[in-house]
Amino acid sequence: RHKSSKQDDLVFFEAWMDEDNHRRRQIEARLRHAIESDGFELYYQPLVCGFDNQVLGYEALIRLRDAEGKPIPPSEFIPIAEARGYIKSIGTFVIQEATRQVAQWPQEIFVSVNLSTVQFVDGDLLNIVADAISAAGIEGKRLELEVVESLLLERSDDVLRQLKALRGLGVKIAMDDFGTGYSSLSYLWRFPFDKLKIDQSFMFAMARGETKVEQLVRTIVSMAHHMGMKVVTEGVEEKVQVDMLRECGCDQIQGYYFGRPVPAEELAIESLRQFRRNHSDPRSGDEEG
Ligand code: C2E
Ligand code: MG
Ligand code: MG
Ligand code: MG
Repeated sequence: RHKSSKQDDLVFFEAWMDEDNHRRRQIEARLRHAIESDGFELYYQPLVCGFDNQVLGYEALIRLRDAEGKPIPPSEFIPIAEARGYIKSIGTFVIQEATRQVAQWPQEIFVSVNLSTVQFVDGDLLNIVADAISAAGIEGKRLELEVVESLLLERSDDVLRQLKALRGLGVKIAMDDFGTGYSSLSYLWRFPFDKLKIDQSFMFAMARGETKVEQLVRTIVSMAHHMGMKVVTEGVEEKVQVDMLRECGCDQIQGYYFGRPVPAEELAIESLRQFRRNHSDPRSGDEEG
């Protein structure tokens, strides 16, 4: 029995490796297929104002399906796309599609796009973004780009130059998944961020009853405001979280409580337009007439 157990482990390990490789190859094939046949979809999730719940913008989230139509999570296919050299063409598609989409929405609504660190490598990101903005005919400020901490760990002078140039187009830069990485806080003063997105794990911890999280969130909001940045909290699913965030002055809220990611056709933009007209702040004027 003892003798065979090592053998069993090996067989099990090989089977597991095979399965893993098989899944990887399937996903690669789906990625290639989607690139060749316009097979990616963008879903949009609202970011609402922390003070009055009005929709301020939408985050674009990419979707890919397997051959049976079942969604493959981005957390699974994005790393494969990065490793296999597909992420740049995917990322360019997302920028072009999201800017084209935001051009259809009311002027005051922005769209937010996730960037992979790989998109900063060849230095053509600036042109891709500038071209997309002018092709869509939108103001740069209606596009927000979300980056992750790992971007700031390497080639930081070059990354800094690119972020500044992107901001020169009027584009806003957000630090995504804030509070989960492993780099120091020093990037907060070295890089030009307009916004911090507090990672959803903070809200999940709060929901589990972790009492210190609330204080940490308050502190992050206050720190961001002192540094001239806006704050979004992600992963908000409960009313008590909304109340807490409003009370501590968090600028924007994102999460299933206000809406899940959906295709653009399912967004109630018309009712949103109507809502904004009816609730428009008299001080901000009546641009829509
Ligand atoms: P992220 O940018 O932090 O996006 C937030 C993720 O949390 C999304 O998952 C969203 O659907 C989910 N989410 C939002 N609100 C809630 C909530 O209240 N509860 C829970 N449980 N989840 C919530 P999704 O769409 O699966 O995307 C996962 C990650 O994949 C994103 O995290 C982002 O890092 C990456 N990603 C998505 N789209 C793109 C893209 O176009 N390009 C790149 N490079 N990465 C992308
Ligand atoms: Mg994001
Ligand atoms: Mg995030
Ligand atoms: Mg995330």
